[in-house]
Amino acid sequence: MSQRAASPEENMNPQVILVTGANKGIGYGIVRSLLTSAPSRSIIYLTSRDVSRGQKAVTELSAIGGRSSNLVYHQLDITDEQSIDTLVNKIRNAHGRLDVLINNASIAGTDNELMVDVNYYGTLMVCKKFLPIIEKDHGRIVTMGSAIGHLAAFENEEIRNQLGNPELTVEQLSALMDKYKADCKDGKASENGWPMAYAVTKAGETALSGILARKYPSLLINVCCPGWVNTEMGASMGGKPPKTIDEGAIIPVRLAVSDLGGVSGGFWENPSVMDTGVGSVSVW
Ligand code: NDP
Repeated sequence: MSQRAASPEENMNPQVILVTGANKGIGYGIVRSLLTSAPSRSIIYLTSRDVSRGQKAVTELSAIGGRSSNLVYHQLDITDEQSIDTLVNKIRNAHGRLDVLINNASIAGTDNELMVDVNYYGTLMVCKKFLPIIEKDHGRIVTMGSAIGHLAAFENEEIRNQLGNPELTVEQLSALMDKYKADCKDGKASENGWPMAYAVTKAGETALSGILARKYPSLLINVCCPGWVNTEMGASMGGKPPKTIDEGAIIPVRLAVSDLGGVSGGFWENPSVMDTGVGSVSVW
């Protein structure tokens, strides 16, 4: 984790902000919150892989009034290179830059390899494609990790050490994710000390955020756990999630638009997944 000099002015200007997977759940909550908490005249891109689901969300949010005129819809499937390229070009042409990228889209479920492809590789491709247009002086990337993906979840010491290695590269991290997929194929994932697939992919996203923070020291690149939130995914973990989507949006929105004192490369969470606080940097 690094700390660079914070500029008190850095978030006063209108921002161009993009949220992936924002047609429902926490992503929708993030957009709703940004409509009041982002600097006025900011442009907020609500994106979704399915056009009709995304447009329905924009219609609902527009009905709320207020700053909904700042809301723009665009299709974005994080696993589809052409879909990403189209939006990168659109934002480059319309604004010349992106200020804040919020990597929210993810899946859970039972298809372990698909989970790696969407959560890790999809997020990686979005970062790679948008980084060239992310504002060099004060741009930010916020990624939704999870307390489930803490390093402590990895019983295999070698894997744990590799993920936590402060010199890990994207190539080495991708090789680890591929090793996990190969172990799944061979039915050896649990024998080889991997935790559940969702945890592997969220750890992959957290490690990726750390690598990018080291590689791009002028940006603020952080990852967070939003807590246990009442969404389709949150409920699929068993039991009734205690937090609303507005509460789940609190930490990511803070990381997107508040003064972070220059912190980059942090894993932000609350002391418990039920807690509705604004989060602080925690040991990953
Ligand atoms: P939801 O399942 O409610 O929403 C996930 C969103 O991601 C949906 O909009 C979904 O679109 C979208 N998505 C899935 N695949 C893609 C893709 N290929 N391209 C673009 N969008 C896609 O999840 P949550 O709101 O609960 O989770 C949001 C984030 O927070 C995730 O990263 C999750 O891992 C993280 N998180 C959630 C927790 C919780 O308790 N809910 C706890 C910790 C972390 P569609 O509607 O088309 O499926």
